[in-house]
Amino acid sequence: MIKFLDLKLVNEDHEAELKKAFEDFLNSGHYILGEQVLKFENEFSSYCGTKYCIGVSSGLDALQLIFQAYKEMGVLSIGNEVLVPANTYIASILAVSNVGLKPILVEPDIKTFNIGISKIEDAITDKTKAILGVHLYGRLYDVNELEKLSERYNLLLIEDAAQAHGAVSADGRKSGNVSDAAAFSFYPTKNLGALGDAGAVTTNDEALAEIIYKLRNYGRTSIYKNDIKGYNCRLDELQASFLRVKLKYLDSDNNIRRKIAKYYLENINSNNMVLPFVDDINQHVFHLFVIRSEKRDELKDYLYKNGVETFIHYPIPVHQQEAYKRYANISLPITEQIHNEVLSIPLNPLLNSSDVDRIVEVISNFK
Ligand SMILES: *Cc1c(COP(=O)(O)O)cnc(C)c1O
Repeated sequence: MIKFLDLKLVNEDHEAELKKAFEDFLNSGHYILGEQVLKFENEFSSYCGTKYCIGVSSGLDALQLIFQAYKEMGVLSIGNEVLVPANTYIASILAVSNVGLKPILVEPDIKTFNIGISKIEDAITDKTKAILGVHLYGRLYDVNELEKLSERYNLLLIEDAAQAHGAVSADGRKSGNVSDAAAFSFYPTKNLGALGDAGAVTTNDEALAEIIYKLRNYGRTSIYKNDIKGYNCRLDELQASFLRVKLKYLDSDNNIRRKIAKYYLENINSNNMVLPFVDDINQHVFHLFVIRSEKRDELKDYLYKNGVETFIHYPIPVHQQEAYKRYANISLPITEQIHNEVLSIPLNPLLNSSDVDRIVEVISNFK
């Protein structure tokens, strides 16, 4: 069986360096917000090209802290509407509603899977204060169009970059640096993955960064002095040291992903399915390689029987989840079609060329 993703292999690839990082961490005697977090924050902000990086506990927390910080600044307030693509992972939408803002679900573009530019203007009301763009599956959202719209309507542009570490826009900016503030997840399966939970916020806004530094650590400014009500959302020192090891390999891993994606695009017989739309390969880091088929469930079973494990990202759209019953009456046909048709096939830097050939052959023979 070709596994969808073998995390043990992913980390074994860096075993010696990870063990050394743990040993140094153990010997440091400093286990929370020490040198490793600080160094990782500096390295990741230089990588993204932003002035600030604040290490936090997860991708969801990164998003929530951004919204919470804008509330502290008086830029956002309870009940404000935030436009968000309806087909994203539920965490993007949870982040909005968990802090008392209202997620407005916007249909995606079926070709790119990202927020539908033409649908955004229809969704804007006088309560709209922000757009939360998501680089779904590793493909950047339409950076130019979202920047133009957010300027024209005076909206914040927030970036959910949890699936797109290292993607580069047409004008040469990295994900994390194409918005007012960006959230990253370093969940173990992501392109840059820790060995546990971890996340980060990147931004060029000094005032915002200062508030997020406080919010992640009880709202404190110095020891036992608290200016605002905060949380415990710190990036773990050990995870920071692992992330420093793995960041060095992010670009080469992304290039392997692009190479495999290109090979799939050129070699899979797509008569019975739609392959991902790729125009500028630098704007995509192929966190997932997602195909669409009207016979998705049949295709998934067929692939499994032929030794290829696949996943569905995601089987149930947020507006049909029990947790979001208040959306039960809305109809989002493009989102629903996507959830019924998508299938993610294995694509990661540890796939060898015989796995890749086998996957191409099996998929191409699906009738
Ligand atoms: C993984 C993910 C998140 C959440 O990250 P966690 O670290 O698991 O909290 C948010 N948004 C998207 C698009 C994701 O893929």
